[in-house]
Amino acid sequence: MCDNTSTKPCEGFSMDTVNELRKRVGGLGLKYFIETYGCQMNEHDSEKLAGMLRECGYTKAETKGEADLILFNTCCVREHAEKRTFGNVGFIKELKAENPRLILGVCGCMMQQKEVAKKLFDRFPFVDLVFGTHELSRFPQMLLEVLDEARVFQVTESDGEVVEGLPVERTEGFSTFVNIMYGCNNFCTYCIVPYVRGRERSRRPADIVNEVSKVVAAGYKEITLLGQNVNSYSCDGLDFPALLRLVCSEVPQLKRLRFMTSHPKDLSDGLIKAMSELDNLCKHIHLPVQSGSDRILKAMNRRYTSGAYLELVDKLRSAVANVEITTDIIVGFPGETEEDFEATCELVRKVGYSNAYTFAYSPRAGTIAARMEDQIPEEVKKRRLNQLNAVLAETIPSNNDKYIGFEGEILVEGVDHRGEPLLFGKLSNFKMVYVEGDESLVGSFLNVKVDGYRFNSLFGHIIQG
Ligand code: SF4
Repeated sequence: MCDNTSTKPCEGFSMDTVNELRKRVGGLGLKYFIETYGCQMNEHDSEKLAGMLRECGYTKAETKGEADLILFNTCCVREHAEKRTFGNVGFIKELKAENPRLILGVCGCMMQQKEVAKKLFDRFPFVDLVFGTHELSRFPQMLLEVLDEARVFQVTESDGEVVEGLPVERTEGFSTFVNIMYGCNNFCTYCIVPYVRGRERSRRPADIVNEVSKVVAAGYKEITLLGQNVNSYSCDGLDFPALLRLVCSEVPQLKRLRFMTSHPKDLSDGLIKAMSELDNLCKHIHLPVQSGSDRILKAMNRRYTSGAYLELVDKLRSAVANVEITTDIIVGFPGETEEDFEATCELVRKVGYSNAYTFAYSPRAGTIAARMEDQIPEEVKKRRLNQLNAVLAETIPSNNDKYIGFEGEILVEGVDHRGEPLLFGKLSNFKMVYVEGDESLVGSFLNVKVDGYRFNSLFGHIIQG
């Protein structure tokens, strides 16, 4: 839901704060290093932190060793994340001894878990700054306090807000991200995200169009609209398909528009229609299924059945030419029987994904699933993960036969130097294609014809447009 009363100009990022910081650090040649863990949301948050630092007079360091400010932007979705973060932060103690003016900050999803953040802050007195996901825009203000010799701990338990106008230092390249919404209301029983990212907040369509226009004017050719559940986007009377139509019509120079992530329960006919009708909207959807067993889907609180999911897949395939579907799957969720697991393998065989991210379930403290009985032994989870990956290793390549002779357009992302140098880039539907060609073609759109494949990658040659 769009709560526009919470759409504020950035409070923490006032020009007064920036000017004060510039006065203090501008001209000193200070450098920053940001280490990012986790998903695209976190990557994009790091681009915003880098943008704020740029405005304050910092430049980017190539290594932690040459940095005057190190930020760890943490994730808590994967197993052992806490242990790894604590280990990495502990390692910085030596750098602090070598460079007394070095500032160390830790932020991101893990720091939004107040008890974990407090533990880290107390255990490592050399950490100068700890802040949660809801404090991102106040970063310059907190940095100013640290420069005044304070240790700062700022973690508020709120549903978050929408803050516009933050500067962004985008990773160089041809593809970039634009947030359309924040937070999640779904509370899948295994997931920590709603607890650390707050409730759903949608950005105003005008702000999104404005940012997309600027990014395209800066030379980016492919934009991914980001949200934990883009299908619940809703603001100023626009739903997600309407937003996609608006972006495509207002910014016609944008050649490729992508989005992620889509929750299957909210995938509407309107979205499928938009995908079939809008030329610039890419023909790929990441549609996390998580399990093929209705019993387990219910226990996960996913609110769809395997049958409903397969119906969506059919609708997508019949309406959107050359569409490809990727997914996320968890094996070994509490209570998962061999029969449940086999239902997942069966669904994978039926769908024919072009790629899948597979995980063995691991409990996240504070979630409902972590407290469930019938946790599955590690060796069983491991065996099921291997079995599932073997099913994917069979089904993914067999999906590629249809590409022999296929002609399409790729956006060249770079050169693969592992063997004979090959250009690589994705088709609109996210299939990666490798072709011979000159390095000067990186960043351009090329028409290619596919001659063969290896696992989930296609190989071909350049053809005339
Ligand atoms: S939809 Fe479910 S898995 Fe995705 S972020 Fe929300 S709670 Fe987590």
